[in-house]
Amino acid sequence: MSLAPWYLNADRQTLKHQRKWKSDPNYTKSWYDRGAKTFQADKFRKGACENCGAMTHDKKTCMERPRQLGAKWTGESIAPDKQIQTFEQKYEGKRDRWNAYDAASYEHVIERYEARDEARRKYLKEQKVGGEKDNQMKWS
Ligand SMILES: [Zn+2]
Repeated sequence: MSLAPWYLNADRQTLKHQRKWKSDPNYTKSWYDRGAKTFQADKFRKGACENCGAMTHDKKTCMERPRQLGAKWTGESIAPDKQIQTFEQKYEGKRDRWNAYDAASYEHVIERYEARDEARRKYLKEQKVGGEKDNQMKWS
């Protein structure tokens, strides 16, 4: 609606997306501090993860390997608390399925596959060379 009805007494655009667009200066520019640790406990605290001993999650959501005897009972090698961050995000940010995805974390996968392909090429080349030799022996 570029022209508002007379009874609205509106002297500017009524729809938000029709108004002069300006980026919100308060919109967050900060981003996740990956792997940041906040506190390292040296003994088990009540209410912490029974498996690893971090306060920031519980046993069900623990990402660590399930220990045979959790930190709750052994009190050993307590995992540090992770920093949990939330950012105020807009429509797109909240619905972004790749939010906080770090493309660099995929690099080692690519490296592994490239190494595999390289090894395969080398192997096939060696096979081929060996096969040719066999053929030559047969025909000469
Ligand atoms: Zn845990």
